[in-house]
Amino acid sequence: MTKTAKDVASRQEKRQAALADTRLRRTVSFYRYVRIADPEAFRERLLKKWSEFECMGRIYVASEGINAQMNVLQNRFNEWNTWVQSQPELAGVPYKIAVEEGNAPSFYKLTIKIRDKIVADGLDDESFDVTNTGEYLTAAEMNQYIDDPEAVVVDMRNNYESEVGHFEGAITPNVVTFRDELKVTPETLKIHKNKKIALYCTGGIRCEKASAWLKHNGFENVKHLKGGIIDYAHQVRELGLENKFKGKNFVFDERLGERVGEEIISHCHLCRKTKSDTHYHCQNQICHTLFIGCDSCIEKRSGYCSRVCKAVDSLPSTWKKPLARFYNHYIRRRKSFNKTKLA
Ligand SMILES: [Zn+2]
Ligand SMILES: [Zn+2]
Repeated sequence: MTKTAKDVASRQEKRQAALADTRLRRTVSFYRYVRIADPEAFRERLLKKWSEFECMGRIYVASEGINAQMNVLQNRFNEWNTWVQSQPELAGVPYKIAVEEGNAPSFYKLTIKIRDKIVADGLDDESFDVTNTGEYLTAAEMNQYIDDPEAVVVDMRNNYESEVGHFEGAITPNVVTFRDELKVTPETLKIHKNKKIALYCTGGIRCEKASAWLKHNGFENVKHLKGGIIDYAHQVRELGLENKFKGKNFVFDERLGERVGEEIISHCHLCRKTKSDTHYHCQNQICHTLFIGCDSCIEKRSGYCSRVCKAVDSLPSTWKKPLARFYNHYIRRRKSFNKTKLA
């Protein structure tokens, strides 16, 4: 999608407004596969109510369900919760609450979009039984799987997510999208066909589809981590379990990550030397590329991903506008950041 100067300006304004609002918020995520007869009407209902509650976030609605990442004002959380649970489509839906809030809000605005699917998986849902999902694993059971040589643990997330954090010994496919992940996983796991398989992702939603997909591809013993890494981190803290997740849990909001384990397992993409697991979006709003930076590189490059981005951003805006189209083209075509090789 090409970003116009107007989009960039409006994002900056919203960001400023959100930063100026210091009221405490709680970052929540939830999803549910549920038949929604009229997604447009459902969207309107959510938008109206959640605007009143001054929630912010990114929510996808489809006829197959809802996938929501959002924040709620701390002092209105109970009220919000009561309302959500009173909606027939959402009654009983479990939430995953962030283990840490950043210094800045997790979202700057509220967007609710209607999509064909709540997760872009590239699968034809008519071609297999999507309801034949794997059984759930608790955090304690996940730990047992990690220790069991007869079990295989697979990260169903993308490489930029697993790069900064993953379970000990997990298979972390080098893919940029969930679609690609689903394409490569049956092949990757072929040699483990008779083993116990445990899948995990950020909050559990991707594994619902992935576990059904693997079962359809002949894998008998597929289970998945309930509530994903977010819930794992909670259970580890609450139940005093050993934490077998190394590093950071990448999250899709302005925080870009929640610390789960203490260690830093990735390196700066700019110098490729210093250990870092902090993601940044390039300061050049036309580029906005996600990369990992260390403190010194971020300072040296003023938060840009490259010299070109810095140079282009310093041009007068009258020059930038006509240049934007070509520049977008350049960004799309150039080699993306070569991710650190994962074990
Ligand atoms: Zn660096
Ligand atoms: Zn850039």
